[in-house]
Amino acid sequence: MKHSVLVIGSGPVGLAHAIELSRLGHPVRIIDKNPEPSPYSKAIVINPKTLSLLEASGASAKLIEQGIKIPCMRMHDANGKVLAEVHVDLIKHHYPFMLAVPQYVTEKVLTDVLAGFGVQIERAKEFIGFAQDGQSVIAEINTANGIESIKADYLIGADGAHSQVRKSLEIEFSGFAYDDQWNLADVTMDWDQGDANVYMLKNGIALIIIRIAESRYRIISNHPDALSYLPKAAKVKQIFWQSDFKVSCRQVQSYQKGRVFLMGDAAHIHSPAGGRGMNLGIEDACILAALIDSEQTDQYSELRYPVGKKVIKLTSRLFRVATLKSPFACVLRNFLLKCLLARKFIQMKVIRQIAGLQ
Ligand SMILES: Cc1cc2nc3c(=O)[nH]c(=O)nc-3n(C[C@H](O)[C@H](O)[C@H](O)COP(=O)(O)OP(=O)(O)OC[C@H]3O[C@@H](n4cnc5c(N)ncnc54)[C@H](O)[C@@H]3O)c2cc1C
Repeated sequence: MKHSVLVIGSGPVGLAHAIELSRLGHPVRIIDKNPEPSPYSKAIVINPKTLSLLEASGASAKLIEQGIKIPCMRMHDANGKVLAEVHVDLIKHHYPFMLAVPQYVTEKVLTDVLAGFGVQIERAKEFIGFAQDGQSVIAEINTANGIESIKADYLIGADGAHSQVRKSLEIEFSGFAYDDQWNLADVTMDWDQGDANVYMLKNGIALIIIRIAESRYRIISNHPDALSYLPKAAKVKQIFWQSDFKVSCRQVQSYQKGRVFLMGDAAHIHSPAGGRGMNLGIEDACILAALIDSEQTDQYSELRYPVGKKVIKLTSRLFRVATLKSPFACVLRNFLLKCLLARKFIQMKVIRQIAGLQ
């Protein structure tokens, strides 16, 4: 049996869900309150698990054409000395690399793939509330021409961290906010030290440099001025985008109520350490599409809540380890990282977690 689905939000997660449902033959509508797509590069790392999940629709091949394959990541101490190299290319997987793609490119690719299934994003339509019974959901949508009511078998809240769907469900988004003020910059620069580097600097400051296009890099730090901590070898030529943001760690207790489901940032947000945020949401999206197709939607929250909880634990731990302040703790951490990551078994375990495979 085919089910009609209304997806709220055309970020990467809502798009991935709409693609998978369309691929499986279910009629989908996807709306977004923004009249235009977002121009920002936000999440930049796509992991092997996500590439596997998006393979059947053809999206992965198109993303790979647009992205930079990152086979290895270097970790450095406060003096710039390499502590460890994490070789993603050692995993036995169809996609043995992390893929760096600016989020606006990811969204464009997914929008085009969705259009290939005959579905267009309906823009400038804002979800405001809903009513549901045992058979269907009726959503109230604010449009330029007044309120539109859309009836569907299922309603999906892929409407981001401030989700109106979550608020309408009256589901608590419990957790906490970190104190750190994060800063990111997308720049072109002369840099010959590899595609992905993590620096664990003094006073609990972490700095990450990832190549996102030919000679274009994302610099990200939990310090309000990321660029001031760049290694001397980096010569910035042009800054394209700079943004400050705060990081919270939150998750809903239940991802579903009746015929309404939450996914992506609407259901969980956490530290960007490990680059799992968008990937975890795309996983929610693909798994719920498969459950709708197999009439097993009751299992969604039960399946996804523990996975989200585990990723939040992992990213919180990575964040804590990378931003230790005590000099003694840093020496111990660096020693342990060097010894442990030199062991292939441990390195594989870490990689499989970052790659979304565990
Ligand atoms: C500055 C910044 C940097 C980031 N960097 C990273 C990173 O390095 N790595 C990483 O993994 N993640 C990063 N993230 C997080 C990442 O962008 C999110 O995890 C990802 O976008 C989540 O996708 P989503 O589809 O769940 O939500 P979103 O991308 O937030 O999409 C939600 C969509 O819903 C729409 N919407 C909202 N409310 C309504 C409504 N009422 N009606 C209709 N439409 C609505 C919005 O317009 C939006 O298009 C970053 C985020 C920011 C802001």
